[in-house]
Amino acid sequence: MVRENLKGACLCSAVQFEVAATPSEIIRCHCRMCQKAHGAPFATFARFRHEDFSVTAGAESIATYRSSDVAQRTFCRECGSSLQFMRDGAGTFGLAISALDSPLEPQPLRDYHQGSRSEWQAR
Ligand SMILES: [Zn+2]
Ligand SMILES: [Zn+2]
Repeated sequence: MVRENLKGACLCSAVQFEVAATPSEIIRCHCRMCQKAHGAPFATFARFRHEDFSVTAGAESIATYRSSDVAQRTFCRECGSSLQFMRDGAGTFGLAISALDSPLEPQPLRDYHQGSRSEWQAR
């Protein structure tokens, strides 16, 4: 049986993509860089292998920002939606999970960098 690819897009739909796999894990990152990049108390990423990801429209609208010595982030240059967190040399990357339009099975989340968790979030 052929499984449908997961599909997603940025807010303005200029960037559209497909993923030929289910995520190996789902991560909430509470680091200050993710908070600022996503305008949110944490960023939630689905981890995929690079080879399972393909941009189906709007590759020219994807901008890249080097947010640290070890990683880059991509976003839509038209609407600003966060798309990817890519650690240098890694075989996998984090996809900003809310860019996905296809439903995912419920699964546990892993929290990273809880030390910089937003103080205003009730525990
Ligand atoms: Zn966009
Ligand atoms: Zn982070």
